[in-house]
Amino acid sequence: MKEYVLPKLPYAYEALEPVIDAATVTLHHDKHHNAYVAGFNGTLKKIVEAREKGDYASIKALDKDLAFHGSGVVLHNLYWENLCPKAECKEPVTGAFLDQVKADFGDLAKLKAEMGAAAKAVEGSGWSVLVWEPASKQLLVLQAENHQKLTIWGVVPLLVIDVWEHAYYLKYQNNRAAYVDALWGIVNWAAVEKRFRAAK
Ligand code: MN
Repeated sequence: MKEYVLPKLPYAYEALEPVIDAATVTLHHDKHHNAYVAGFNGTLKKIVEAREKGDYASIKALDKDLAFHGSGVVLHNLYWENLCPKAECKEPVTGAFLDQVKADFGDLAKLKAEMGAAAKAVEGSGWSVLVWEPASKQLLVLQAENHQKLTIWGVVPLLVIDVWEHAYYLKYQNNRAAYVDALWGIVNWAAVEKRFRAAK
């Protein structure tokens, strides 16, 4: 059985301040993200046990848990990768990713407008996700409810915005929109570019 491991943060807990405070990053990474890693590994263990016994009485609940926790891990891994300390973040002015953004959205401001609106409008807990859709060869903005719902099979996530309350509530309380707007200041566009090139 292959297990997920909680990745270390690529920067210090306070590195994303003032946009995201150290207490939020600490709880979000060490408790919430870690819980999805543990949830995935625990669920997979139960599935392996069921497989060995040939007893699939609980398979419906186990598969739901696997998708929830597995998607939670994948999106959180990306979330930390996609952020950077404000002084190190630069918007792209050239490059293959920006060319694709221009082809599909017009310009970066329009991508940010659509993705930001999608993030603010997620019903309950979820995400806004910029994806590469390989069948039609274009960038798309999707929402995710919880972690696993509303996707298109086969897409490659490139940039994610977590809008679960645990991502912003300590600092922004109920003002999800202010958190989403501020987040654009700490997007690691170089990481997005790298993921785009690998996906394409
Ligand atoms: Mn989260």
